[in-house]
Amino acid sequence: WSSTNFPWTKKLEANNKKVFGNHSFRPNQREVINATMSGYDVFVLMPTGGGKSLTYQLPALICPGVTLVISPLVSLIQDQIMHLLQANIPAAYLSANMEWTEQQEILRELCSDYCKYKLLYVTPEKVAKSDVLLRNLESLNGRGLLARIVIDEAHCELGILKKKFEKTPVLALTATATASVKEDVVQALGLVDCIVFCNSQDKKSAWKTSTSSSEKIILMNVELSTVYQEWTAKKVAEKLQECGHKTAFYHGNMDAAQRSFVQRQWSKDEVNIICATVAFGMGINKPDVRFVIHHSLPKSIEGYHQECGRAGRDGQRASCVLYYSYSDYIRVKHMIIQGQAEQSPWTAGCGRNNMKNSDRILEKNTENLLRMVSYSENDVDCRRLLQLLHFGEKFDSGNCGNTCDNCSKIKTLVEKDVTESAKQLVELVKLSGQHFSSSHILEVYRGSLSQFVKRHRHESLSLHGAGKHLAKGEASRILRHLVIEDFLAEDVKKSDIYGSVSSVLKVNESKAYNLRSGEQRIVLRCSLSL
Ligand code: ADP
Ligand code: ZN
Repeated sequence: WSSTNFPWTKKLEANNKKVFGNHSFRPNQREVINATMSGYDVFVLMPTGGGKSLTYQLPALICPGVTLVISPLVSLIQDQIMHLLQANIPAAYLSANMEWTEQQEILRELCSDYCKYKLLYVTPEKVAKSDVLLRNLESLNGRGLLARIVIDEAHCELGILKKKFEKTPVLALTATATASVKEDVVQALGLVDCIVFCNSQDKKSAWKTSTSSSEKIILMNVELSTVYQEWTAKKVAEKLQECGHKTAFYHGNMDAAQRSFVQRQWSKDEVNIICATVAFGMGINKPDVRFVIHHSLPKSIEGYHQECGRAGRDGQRASCVLYYSYSDYIRVKHMIIQGQAEQSPWTAGCGRNNMKNSDRILEKNTENLLRMVSYSENDVDCRRLLQLLHFGEKFDSGNCGNTCDNCSKIKTLVEKDVTESAKQLVELVKLSGQHFSSSHILEVYRGSLSQFVKRHRHESLSLHGAGKHLAKGEASRILRHLVIEDFLAEDVKKSDIYGSVSSVLKVNESKAYNLRSGEQRIVLRCSLSL
């Protein structure tokens, strides 16, 4: 099912990029889409966050007709509708607690000849109870406009749908199902010749464990402005609560009474997940924290180490998970520049109001952040070794014995001299006038003919397409390495009032000189995971 030769493949890829802003597909997304678009009933087991929505939103967008989505949580439905409308995809939802007139309007639209909706969301109760809805769906189906039926969180008994809409493909999605639950669901829904995709729960084991036990989890939010961090902590907590987890949030801007209330809840095991900013917890010593999860990039290895140190104080096994994306780096860097970063204890001694010191602080903070990026990008060396090295310690046994992500990979290492590509990338940044972001530079380097490239006439640059032979991941790793090692500097700017940021690459001439002269070679260690 992973073939890229389906008639819709081009459209699929284009819309995935253009409408959803994704550069690729996550594991099994393409497979699920190909299977459901081929008209089969499909059952998908994918952990939360795996990207289930795309597997029906993208087909809904490119197939004629309306996709019916049955989803149990109204708040999640509303969230999805908001995103769809923002992306200009017409969507609506019906639920029992809506105004009747509003419901009528939507139902009327379903009966019109060219129903404008691409997606219609309903709750399972609505399908089970509303004859009017069923009649409208039948009418839609009769006109060949019921494209697909999606059952999100497929635990519900909706066998009636397959009976009524025999030929309409059903896509059943769930985040949590054992093999036997899967059999039950497939049976109950009456799916025929059903194709099954199961994604490993492995990477998300932290989330899964929390559903079945009362293990303690701290979720750290350390990104963007303080205001945004606080907002995120709250939002993430709400999401987790909706999923049935006993969750609280904690940030520095809550009043003392609220804070101590949350601390007490946490100490007394009344909640088992805390979504927090770094304001949480220096003094809160809870021995049985099993997971510390970093929702985004910490500002320094010291900070990261310290925050992780809150896990497993009882000596029992505990895990730390860091979600890393390079775009976090850009945002955190911006935050540091704006001085919105909460003063980190590692530089606090430098004094705050003194101009010269503030330059020093900025420099120190940037360096700390780059080290954190470099740690995150490293997919080769033992994590424990790296952390200890950072603190100037040695690690006698050489590695941790397969407990960190890097050690537990089976891999062969290759060293690759990428000096030529590195030189070209630096040259390209210069040629284009040092006004463009790393993603644009990568596009030009790999020969893109996008509108943006053409608008700036970058297809006529001598190095346009010079990196065609490299995989995109490879070219971007080289570029990041150049930033981490200071050959290039990433100038970060706030670009609008919503706080989104853009970045521009500049050449650091003194370092680039050594590269051009051939004095310095660039060798990357890569792992070929087996
Ligand atoms: P699920 O429903 O499985 O919990 P979602 O559909 O909500 O997951 O997706 C989780 C996140 O992953 C969303 O923020 C979504 O934008 C993002 N995402 C989904 N597919 C991709 C992809 N192919 N590339 C990048 N991000 C993706
Ligand atoms: Zn290790």
